[in-house]
Amino acid sequence: MPEQLIDRTPSAHYHSLLIKNLLDNPVRQFPDQAIVYGDFKRQTYRETRERIGRLASGLAGLGVKRGDTVAVMDWDSHRYLECFFAVPMMGAVLHTINVRLSPEQILYTINHAEDDVILVNTEFLPILETIRDRLEPVKKLVLLDDAGQPPATRLDISTEYEDLLAAGDPDYKFPEFSEETRATTFYTTGTTGLPKGVYFSHRQLVMHTLAIGTALAGPGQGRFNRDDVYLPITPMFHVHAWGMPYVATMLGVKQVYPGRYAPEHLLRLIQRENATFSHCVPTILQMLLSSPQVEKTDLSRWKVIIGGAALPKVLAKQARDRGVDIFAAYGMSETCPILVFAQLKPHMLDWDEERQLEIRCKTGLPIPMVDLRIVDEEMNDLPQDGVTQGEVVVRAPWLTQGYLKDPRASEALWRGGYLHTGDIGVIDSEGYLKITDRLKDVIKTGGEWISSLELEDLILKHPAVIEAAVLGIPDPKWGERPLALVVAKPEQTVDEATIRAWLQDFADKGIISKWGIPDRVLFVDGIPKTSVGKLNKKAMREQYSELIRG
Ligand code: AMP
Repeated sequence: MPEQLIDRTPSAHYHSLLIKNLLDNPVRQFPDQAIVYGDFKRQTYRETRERIGRLASGLAGLGVKRGDTVAVMDWDSHRYLECFFAVPMMGAVLHTINVRLSPEQILYTINHAEDDVILVNTEFLPILETIRDRLEPVKKLVLLDDAGQPPATRLDISTEYEDLLAAGDPDYKFPEFSEETRATTFYTTGTTGLPKGVYFSHRQLVMHTLAIGTALAGPGQGRFNRDDVYLPITPMFHVHAWGMPYVATMLGVKQVYPGRYAPEHLLRLIQRENATFSHCVPTILQMLLSSPQVEKTDLSRWKVIIGGAALPKVLAKQARDRGVDIFAAYGMSETCPILVFAQLKPHMLDWDEERQLEIRCKTGLPIPMVDLRIVDEEMNDLPQDGVTQGEVVVRAPWLTQGYLKDPRASEALWRGGYLHTGDIGVIDSEGYLKITDRLKDVIKTGGEWISSLELEDLILKHPAVIEAAVLGIPDPKWGERPLALVVAKPEQTVDEATIRAWLQDFADKGIISKWGIPDRVLFVDGIPKTSVGKLNKKAMREQYSELIRG
């Protein structure tokens, strides 16, 4: 017998999992709660709700309809939070542009996502100016300006954000639509160098928000709740700042958006606003803890989730010595992103500091509704013994269902019905995952990806080079940095400075980001290959990591 679908009473309302339904209760229950934007702005939840209505109404006035795409280029701000809600709530798609990509990559993502309107901070106007002739029509530009003195520009600006809001209607009626409607999209650097678009529905973002809220509900360690003060330090353009602004809003907590990240400024905000809950990549935490300002900052109430790269034990120890409740998380752009948190189980709260540190630095336990496995190449489950390594594959209600307009890559991502993370890990008998290696050929430096293949292609274009390989080498500050191995053509002389200058030229032209230029170029006689003639990165990593670390 087929399963029985529920009967729907004709008058019954189906309360869909729409982003707007995350907003109503906190606005009603905590109308005077604060949302702060650095040193520039302080507003209440009530005002924020009104501004969300005004923004949607203003965007509609600019011609934005359901299904259109509205892009944002901004630092973390109250405006970005307003866009997180207003744009999807209109039935449009929010494209969070990664401003750290090179201008050519940004151009590609704007055209590929078919952005209709771009909200751009004055700081990023120079990027748009360099690519404006190749922006496919019709792009309307809205200026986001903190200084109150918009600069002269050759770009055709439709209006300024505050003017748009001032003319908008705070009571704009947000429509009902299917919870499967696309809410957000953004790009992640692929191994080939061309960014790949991922996308999430209202339902997925709401489920992700609820699951994180549950996982962090406490009362043990790593708790995020109503009395917390939230300060994100993972950019809002990067996987919706890990989805945490939605969680913070749903909980009705005070939120502090820092603008551009500078260690002294962030620490001052933590102190001034009593921030208790943040998340960031290890590089940023390292910078905060090394800043002289840290001595003037009380971090003993601060909880911080570290993700984007493994949490080194020495960094975790440094943070613990200042009283920080630190723990790791894991996920990726394709997974919305949160999959696991490295929280302590209740019986571990009595363990000594050293044993607890081990757990805090593991990659973590899957949060509710995440089905996470480590498998061999035939998708067989591997033993959970903390030693046997396999690829991490996942299912959860909030994983991207594909890559935008790329069915082939989408199929590869989802082969066998599980999303393939391209990460290698082990699971121990307590169920904690630890990421140990990576299948994908990319380098992560300071939280941003660099494609090794793209760098190799560019180095190979140099007339004196016959072979090249680029690999990520552990780096205490940036997590990883690219190292280039180069074989020169016979009779040719080429040196490290020449290769770096060659790549600098591509960075100056906006083709690669400036972080992509390797710190070191080693000239070698040959490059290790696999049995089928591919570059053997594993062998190279083993061979050269030690050399670099000395
Ligand atoms: P992104 O899509 O830029 O968010 O990068 C996600 C990738 O970063 C993952 O697939 C991992 O390779 C890496 N990553 C994220 N979190 C961790 C972690 N806690 N430990 C190790 N690697 C991580």
